[in-house]
Amino acid sequence: MRQLHDKPVLESNSQQELTTIPGPLVIKNLIENSRSDLFEEAKTEWELVTYIPNDSEEFVENCELCNHRNYIANWLIQNPNTNALLKVGSDCIKRFIQFAGTSSQTDSNVFFENREKEIGKELELKVSYREVIATPLPTFRVANRFKKITLELLENRGQVHLLESPEGRLEIIQTLFKQQNPSKKEQDHFQWLMSDPSSLPVQKETKKFRQIHYKEGSTLTRRSKVTRSTLSSSKVYQDPSKKYD
Ligand SMILES: [Zn+2]
Repeated sequence: MRQLHDKPVLESNSQQELTTIPGPLVIKNLIENSRSDLFEEAKTEWELVTYIPNDSEEFVENCELCNHRNYIANWLIQNPNTNALLKVGSDCIKRFIQFAGTSSQTDSNVFFENREKEIGKELELKVSYREVIATPLPTFRVANRFKKITLELLENRGQVHLLESPEGRLEIIQTLFKQQNPSKKEQDHFQWLMSDPSSLPVQKETKKFRQIHYKEGSTLTRRSKVTRSTLSSSKVYQDPSKKYD
């Protein structure tokens, strides 16, 4: 057999600045927690468990593969052969983990990036739950976006049918929006939003409302008007999931 390269070559994708050649620490940490003693095999043994945001008690500051600092979140991965769990950064996953069941690093990264986008949408729903469901009046724009993302995620999971019963809707509120004890009123609002949005009390987005809205929702009230309107009109502010694109 002819050997073209001693080392794996860089992937010719958007991550050209990040090497896919693992350092000694990454190799040691991965092999110690895997069944295989070969890095290229060990990296294919892992499964994605969950996302751990930095405000969680489970969050660790340093990636357990490369020891670099994680700022926003960790991803929990598990090796079913050894039951080992590692909390790692997304860069390490895209370079050094080819998830079990995927056919290549590229395939694995597509799977991972879809999961990242989905998580971004889940976070957006969790954040806007209060505004849309718990204490209406939301605006039409915010309520419609909430409904659209909810439907999108339910379709991805094959769970649209849960909308049909009170028990199903409660399950959605608890699992998708992460609200353990929603009031009767919140459950009613959710039902109205999903079935008959015109019955949900919404706030007309008048100029006066916008001013009040930003004043309550922003810590930048004392800053200049320009700063505030720049922030509120930025894509990321309106749509946190864009950060994952
Ligand atoms: Zn890392």
